[in-house]
Amino acid sequence: MKSNLIIAISLLFTIAAYSNQDDQKNMLSPFPHMDSQAVFTDFINANYKINYDPTKQSATVLAEIEFVTYQKGFPVFDLVREPTSIQLDGFEVSSTSVQTPSNETTVRVLSTEIEPGTHRFILEIPITDLIRFEESGVSSAFWVTDLEDRKFLERYIPVSFEYDRVSMRFDIHFNGLTNQKIFANGKITQINSDTFEVQFPDHYTVSSVYFHTLPKGTYHQIEFHHTSLDGRSIPITVYTKENPSVMSPYKDTLLRTMTELETDYGAFPHEQFIVYHANLSDWGLGGMEYSGATVTNHRSVQHELFHSFFGRGVQPANGNAGWIDEALASWRDRGYQSRDSLSGSSTMASHPEYTRKTDTNAYGFGSSFVALLESKLKNIGGMKSFMSSFLAKRLYTPISTEQFVQDIEEFSQMKFQDLFDKYIYGKEIQQFSSQTDVINIPIHKKLNAEQLEKIL
Ligand SMILES: [Zn+2]
Repeated sequence: MKSNLIIAISLLFTIAAYSNQDDQKNMLSPFPHMDSQAVFTDFINANYKINYDPTKQSATVLAEIEFVTYQKGFPVFDLVREPTSIQLDGFEVSSTSVQTPSNETTVRVLSTEIEPGTHRFILEIPITDLIRFEESGVSSAFWVTDLEDRKFLERYIPVSFEYDRVSMRFDIHFNGLTNQKIFANGKITQINSDTFEVQFPDHYTVSSVYFHTLPKGTYHQIEFHHTSLDGRSIPITVYTKENPSVMSPYKDTLLRTMTELETDYGAFPHEQFIVYHANLSDWGLGGMEYSGATVTNHRSVQHELFHSFFGRGVQPANGNAGWIDEALASWRDRGYQSRDSLSGSSTMASHPEYTRKTDTNAYGFGSSFVALLESKLKNIGGMKSFMSSFLAKRLYTPISTEQFVQDIEEFSQMKFQDLFDKYIYGKEIQQFSSQTDVINIPIHKKLNAEQLEKIL
């Protein structure tokens, strides 16, 4: 009886943690490695014990990860820094950084070949990026960008890839620092004065998590609520280290835009919206989106809120799908234009398989391509109508460009493959070079590593 119950409960957890079929669909292919193959992994649970030590002015992460592999081979995950130690299924192992076959990116591969099935590994790793100890406490963030390679969470902690949804928990210990505030897009529980737990939703991927801690008293914060289409009261938090007056225009803008986007695309798909306002205008920058959170400025906040629907509500499964949400968001930025023709082409969805960064043609050429789709769909409610059905169908799901094409064809009962082949896969132009008739919009360029350091 008891074991049946345990099986039933663990099955429920397996389903809830998206361990099965769904994430396999977009899993990256194995590649040759050491007379065998390197195989991509399906993370199920990942628990990160994050330990800030003010005495040593250092921080470490102890990660315990349960994952599944479906083929025999050397398991692939990613972590930019060299881990201090790794245990796989109870044994000490090592790992190496390996270039993918077309040299499009680097991944980390464990040194031990394993059979398909469920495995567990434990890694220890120092945090050396985006961390600063001060008199009043510690500032630390796990901010990401998708315009550069290997700049998702792998910059800080061991993770898998965009195709993979994982149940992630942070156990955070500040070792006597009792003045810390945490902004995160998960459920935060304070265990005691210097210890917190953050549980993130099961559908999060390596591009979803927002985590920023800083000492209380070093920032200003406002909070208000939006009443969602579905009746929920959604908390919206804006905080900044700049003069508090910079936050005054946000309330109007965000409440208005929330209502607009919910009218067009359905209820806001996250439990809250967090805005970290940083002074990015001097750099001519936009921001970066997370699931129900963003680092941005007032100029770009509508674009970033849009990404909580497209980009972090329905998410790209790989670098070749990253163009979709930027094209859709930029199409809105430009006033939902329609156009009957388009010159030029791009290869936004035909980069080598393991590419992780988004093609920047998405902003300019991509949004013009969406304007072309808009004109094709004008008799059946236009792109907005497709997008709301697409979001409802694919919510919390990582998607590929191929699934996007399939969905728009299914919705419209029209053929779109040739159009995508021409403009998005660039089948008529030389591979991996692109030419467009549209100049990219500079305002949504994202922060680079050095700029992130300055706003921490
Ligand atoms: Zn964007």
